[in-house]
Amino acid sequence: MYQFSRAIYRELSADVTSQPGGGRVAAQARLLTECEASMTRLATDRHYFAHPVKTLFNDVRSLFPIGSQLHVYRTIERHMLEAIAYVDEQARDGVTFDGSPLCCHATTRKGTSCQRVPLPSSKYCPSHKHLDESNRQQPAAVAA
Ligand SMILES: [Zn+2]
Repeated sequence: MYQFSRAIYRELSADVTSQPGGGRVAAQARLLTECEASMTRLATDRHYFAHPVKTLFNDVRSLFPIGSQLHVYRTIERHMLEAIAYVDEQARDGVTFDGSPLCCHATTRKGTSCQRVPLPSSKYCPSHKHLDESNRQQPAAVAA
């Protein structure tokens, strides 16, 4: 998974500007940390990470000069879309990014996590898929 954050870092680390109190090396370290945090979140929390490109861009944009902002955004977007495609492909195969099996997000009546494999494109197994449907209807109900 970190091949994606390292790719972003490699392309952008030369463009960072010195930060007050930290200098350029500190800014580069911060860039790497933010990239890796985003990739970790994407890999482990895909369903709740709604805007990974915007989130990472907002976290690191202050490290770059105004003239580089568009380049920074495009670079993040390109690598993030690859990372998302990778995570989704792994999820379709029923495994997480590191090859361990995906588990249903539901909690059983005993209070333990459900160990079953989720349906494709859902975070719940067949027995808990109603949870996914009720989640999806909530925003619409609030909007109405
Ligand atoms: Zn389940």
